Amino acid sequence: MEEQIELVLDKYRSAGRILAEVREEAVGRIKEGFSLLEVAEFVENGTREKGAEPGFPCNISRNEEAAHATPSIDEKTVFGKDIVKLDIGAHIGGYIGDSAVTVDLSGSNDGLVKASEAALNEAIKIIRDGVSTVEIGETIENTIRARAQGYKPIVNLTGHGLLKYNSHARPAIPNVKYEHGVILRENDVVAIEPFATDAQGVGKVVESGNAEIYSLIKAKPVRLREAKKLLEEIKKYQGLPFAKRWLPRERLDMALRTLKNTGVLRDHPVLREEGKGLVSQAEHTIIVKEDGCEVTTRKTKT
Ligand code: MN
Ligand code: MN
Repeated sequence: MEEQIELVLDKYRSAGRILAEVREEAVGRIKEGFSLLEVAEFVENGTREKGAEPGFPCNISRNEEAAHATPSIDEKTVFGKDIVKLDIGAHIGGYIGDSAVTVDLSGSNDGLVKASEAALNEAIKIIRDGVSTVEIGETIENTIRARAQGYKPIVNLTGHGLLKYNSHARPAIPNVKYEHGVILRENDVVAIEPFATDAQGVGKVVESGNAEIYSLIKAKPVRLREAKKLLEEIKKYQGLPFAKRWLPRERLDMALRTLKNTGVLRDHPVLREEGKGLVSQAEHTIIVKEDGCEVTTRKTKT
């Protein structure tokens, strides 16, 4: 039994190591005038070349976008003076590493970037067997609010558990103090992801715009031939989120619409800060240990 747990944890570690390498290489390509689509493809192909699979589409969310933005297949957008969240996933056999960094191309939002990074670091310091998600949320909120610039945490985005082929398992790990937490135990694998917004932000995200990311809710018989074909195609993601641009283009919109309307698929529209505040994010995947935690998505020195 012990050995089996170690085998599983080793897959999380390998996925995390690959992810950390890809993340570092990708950050070097986030520059003014560089293409968003090229960065996304670099991340996803790089993950595969290193022996893992993307855990979900490469998320590139800018400025007041907090999450769930990924380039479309014919995306022409290039980076401007943006505050860029790169949120990526890699899995081996369903065991996922999930990590995000914020790159400030504006040159004037370093404090906001540091606020979510500091919150992540403080949270990592207190995680051990027996820690409550309430303590984690409180630590994140206090760290972000301690900054002089009026930054606030985003209340409706949370960290989460990771399970085999489940990139958003329980428990939710809020970025604010709340009631009724869950106790984390040794060998739990969770993602911690503080989001901070500036003084203009209200600290909440809302859905907006078209979705480029989808995931399977439950396979059901469908009549339309295109929908049936598409359902077969997406089964290989085993419930993990996928990008519209990964799919065969032929009659795609109709097939997606049908699968969404019949409750087979859900879409994941872009999440924007409600007050149009700028948003930063920092995220690592960790394994809870008796006396601390192990970060799987940190680049290890060789
Ligand atoms: Mn993430
Ligand atoms: Mn996550």
